[in-house]
Formats: sequence, structure tokens, C-alpha cells
Amino acid sequence: MLKRLHFAGPQTSCKICKGPAPLYGVADFNKNCLEREKVFLPLLGEPVYYHQCESCRLIFSTAFDDWSAADFKAHIYNDDYVTVDPEYVEIRPRKLAGMVFNFIKRGTNLKLLDYGGGEGKTAALLREKGIAATSWDPMAAAALPRESAFDVVTCFEVFEHTPQPVVTAEDALRFLKPQGVLLFSTLTAEGMPPRHMDFWYIAPRNGHITIYSKAALKVLFESLGCTVHHFNDNVHMAYRQLPAWLAT
Ligand SMILES: [Zn+2]
Repeated sequence: MLKRLHFAGPQTSCKICKGPAPLYGVADFNKNCLEREKVFLPLLGEPVYYHQCESCRLIFSTAFDDWSAADFKAHIYNDDYVTVDPEYVEIRPRKLAGMVFNFIKRGTNLKLLDYGGGEGKTAALLREKGIAATSWDPMAAAALPRESAFDVVTCFEVFEHTPQPVVTAEDALRFLKPQGVLLFSTLTAEGMPPRHMDFWYIAPRNGHITIYSKAALKVLFESLGCTVHHFNDNVHMAYRQLPAWLAT
């Protein structure tokens, strides 16, 4: 049995800018990202509603607002999670480690924290390449890294999973030095037509419950004193002061 899902009603306010956010659409809990590759799970019969902000265009669900980390572990990040995200274990950490290495090698002796790094595979691969990389996941009960101590915090495939985007962004940013950089991924969605619930990235079974526009990311990070730069639709960085090693 799924833990009861929270329903905010037909109208709520945006989790980032507090703007008016009417209902956008509804998906079965078992809708997953691999449906675009024709991998379908049986429908569960649990509707997950999403709202969209009329102002910053954030698409988000309030369904999981009452869930604890243990609830997420039991129902989403459980033993079956790998069936809806098979690249999670090995392929993605390798791709990410390669991308981060190319980014961080522009500086010297930089300290990196992989925030939300799961089992720590990406950080381990970076250490093999000589990078001072640590992994920390807010879902695991490991010792907290030192705050304001890292040149780079990476945060891959985290923001679409959080029911609290402001809290998560603030939490990741606290580990950065003043001239540190948050390098993060989340697929931004622009110009979404009404009721576009077939969009593959809206996927409750994968824990994709908050889908950003570039405008939503701008409001989110500006509210925390940061500038956002987009490398593409999926990879972005946020910083308070651009460090010298990135400025050239
Ligand atoms: Zn908004």
C-alpha cells in the first residue's frame, strides 16, 4: 500500500515564487521515464497531480509533501528503482565523472562534494582520476561534510526529485566556499503545452516531482543570492561570485 498522497486542491501557490499555480495534469504513480522506450509498469491506480506556476512555469506535485525519507525509500528508491532507471548504478556515474573531470581540471587542487551522490560512485571515480572528491547524500544518515569548504558542489539528478526546491538548493549551497560553484543537472522544460503529461520527464515512479523552467531556476537561485548559467537544457551552474579559474 502506498502512503496517502497529499492533494493541494485545484489551486495552490508556487513552491519557488509563490505565484498562482492551478492544476496542470495528472499521472498514475507508476508512470516512469522508460515509457519513451516502451517500458510500462502496470498502472497502480494512484493519481499524482501536478500544478504549474503561471508566473515562473515550475511544474510540481504536492503529492509527496508529507512523505519522510523512509517513505521515499520504501515506495520510490526501493529495490525496484533500478528497473525504471537502469543507468543509475554504473553507466551514469561514469558519464558524470568524465564530464565533471573536464570541468574541474580547469582549476587546480579544487575540493569537490557530490551532493545527493547516492552510493558515492561518481565521487569514487573522480578520486581515481586524482580529484579530491567526497560524496554526501541527504537521504543517507552519514556524517555531514564541513560547510563552506568546497570549491565545487555537484548535484546531479537531485532537483527534480525534491518536494522542497528552495530547501534543497539552500542545503546544497551551504557547502560552497564564497567563490564556489554549484554544478547541477535537471532537465528544464520550456513552453510546455497544457496537460502535456506524456512528457517523459514527468515521472512519479522515478521520483520526478519538480520540473523546472529556466525562469524557475533563475528565480530560485537569485532568491539565494546566486547567478545561474545554463550549459544546455540539462546542465547548469549557480554561483555567488565566479571563481578566477572559471573566469578565464
Ligand atoms: Zn513560480
